[in-house]
Amino acid sequence: MANVVPLPEPPLAEVHGTRDRFPVRRVYCVGRNYAAHAREMGFDPDRDPPFFFCKPADAVVSVPEGTIAPIPYPQKTSNYHHEVELVVAIGREGANIPVEKALDHVWGYAVGLDMTRRDLQFAMRDKGRPWELGKAFDASAPMGALVAAGEVPDIARAAIWLDVDGERRQSSSIDHLIWSIPETIAYLSEYFHLVPGDLIFTGTPEGVGPVERGAILHAHVDGLPDLKIRIV
Ligand code: MN
Repeated sequence: MANVVPLPEPPLAEVHGTRDRFPVRRVYCVGRNYAAHAREMGFDPDRDPPFFFCKPADAVVSVPEGTIAPIPYPQKTSNYHHEVELVVAIGREGANIPVEKALDHVWGYAVGLDMTRRDLQFAMRDKGRPWELGKAFDASAPMGALVAAGEVPDIARAAIWLDVDGERRQSSSIDHLIWSIPETIAYLSEYFHLVPGDLIFTGTPEGVGPVERGAILHAHVDGLPDLKIRIV
């Protein structure tokens, strides 16, 4: 018996301080999980709660610490946006997870970028169509090295920010999430059986905007290794 096409390499995420890797199974993303970002997108966070969408696992680009990864400017867009996000890595399986048990399912955390073809996302959104063209393209999920949860005790109050070419574009705090980390895991697990290897991009704060070729993006969450990419 043989595979009729080559077996794909599983996407692997770097782990801080070791040569170990975190195999990525699925990438879930939360939309509009910060009130100020929901408003800048034209929505009322009191009337429209956050929601989920997915990216393919192989959209992940795991960037080693201390390096600047080249990320290609994608095809078919002229409005390519940055969204800095906290990424939660699931380490224990579960469904219908209670909020008070949710953190037991976390392996660790990383800084990520939910890169977005905003023009295509809006075109799909306005027609009531799925968001894949805007969100699920190749290399749309760069992320820094993962840190084990026990090494990041204060993630719920961490600062999160993004600089583009040395200029601060996004700046907020994880405690501004509409759905907290445990609430996000609990809610998602009502709809999907979570499995080790799943990642959750928890949503972006306000200040999203376009980037061009040549831009250097520097993403940060307190307590985690920084993520740096260059658009090429
Ligand atoms: Mn996002």
